[in-house]
Amino acid sequence: MRTMENLDDVRGKRVLVRCDFNVPLKDGAIIDDGRIRAALPTLEELRRRGAKVVILAHLGRPKGTVVPELSLAPVARRLSELMGCPVTLAKDTYGSDARRLVSDMQDGDVIVLENVRFNPEETSKDETVRSAYAAKIARLGDIFVSDGFGVVHRAQGSDYDIAKLLPNAAGLLIQKEVANLSRATDNPDRPFTVVLGGAKVSDKLGVIRNLLGKADRLLIGGGMSYTFLKAKGYEVGTSLLEPDMVGVAAGYMRTAQERGVELLLPVDVIVADRFAADADALAVPVGAMPANRMGMDIGPRTRELFADSIRGSKTVFWNGPTGVFEFPRFSQGTKAVADAVAQATKDGAFTIIGGGDSASAVRSLGFADTEFSHISTGGGASLEFLEDKPLPGLSVLE
Ligand code: ADP
Ligand code: MG
Repeated sequence: MRTMENLDDVRGKRVLVRCDFNVPLKDGAIIDDGRIRAALPTLEELRRRGAKVVILAHLGRPKGTVVPELSLAPVARRLSELMGCPVTLAKDTYGSDARRLVSDMQDGDVIVLENVRFNPEETSKDETVRSAYAAKIARLGDIFVSDGFGVVHRAQGSDYDIAKLLPNAAGLLIQKEVANLSRATDNPDRPFTVVLGGAKVSDKLGVIRNLLGKADRLLIGGGMSYTFLKAKGYEVGTSLLEPDMVGVAAGYMRTAQERGVELLLPVDVIVADRFAADADALAVPVGAMPANRMGMDIGPRTRELFADSIRGSKTVFWNGPTGVFEFPRFSQGTKAVADAVAQATKDGAFTIIGGGDSASAVRSLGFADTEFSHISTGGGASLEFLEDKPLPGLSVLE
């Protein structure tokens, strides 16, 4: 992988930097700016070296149309505060406003181009559509630096196609992510425990097959656990469920057994009458979930079961909150897992937390970044890295 040291003099050059600024928002405010902070080393170094820094980023899933609530304006403001310099936001990604702002830049200036996902071409499946679009962005730069680790598992216009059009290098965040995650993939100290949760059930269920060949223990909570509980024949009420994947989940459980991988599922859950912060919360064993209730978190016995398993591990990778942590009533499972991972870190284990919401969850629950070995900015990307899948956004830099 080419790195920033391999770049010739960048002074006076327009450097397009892909960042992952997909931060969690609530009522237009940034709840966790971890991904913006993580981008600072690269951005500051480029500024110091006299580059004109032009940032490409996305926010949320606007699906190819302009969604004003998903403008990068709050991100540009926060970045300006953190860098202590003006950061201008272009009204478009490659249109007349972007072109005008870029042509007016001085050495060391920083601008952010508007949400790349406002353009339908960014995520098009058609490579010719994407590369024609990437060419329009490429005209705004002389060099491309890829530093949005959270998107490198997807071949998209602003992280993949553009790299084919300009001299390029990986940024400092990507280098750091690769160095840390490699520790969990190349000969991890064992037992190696993977904890999975979150809401992107269909995205994440598929990774389990590959993890069954790597991890010694797999702890499954959060949204995807209900597909497994269903496969075991339990009533799961109105919980998140991927009906098409029930058979696949059953297959994973058989594979785990054959390979001697410990696969732990919740033994009790907290159910609610509706998806709300003030919903009625009730702990029930997994065999007693009422048909009209939804699973919102792991229960107290599961918290202990998961915590014991995590504390006895030498390497831990965790992606996905075990419950709807945004509602304090349903955050106890996630808190218990975070406590156990922090304890394992103290006891000498190498621990990684991956994923935007997972990172935001531990910070909002009061944990410091230093309580874990590494907080990865990538969710899907870190999982796919762990699976040893080639990541298009990294391979393209080789
Ligand atoms: P990450 O961003 O860390 O990769 P995800 O985006 O997959 O994680 O999932 C985070 C979301 O999962 C949180 O908003 C949380 O509320 C939600 N979640 C966790 N458990 C459940 C559940 N049982 N039902 C519904 N949503 C859940
Ligand atoms: Mg998320």
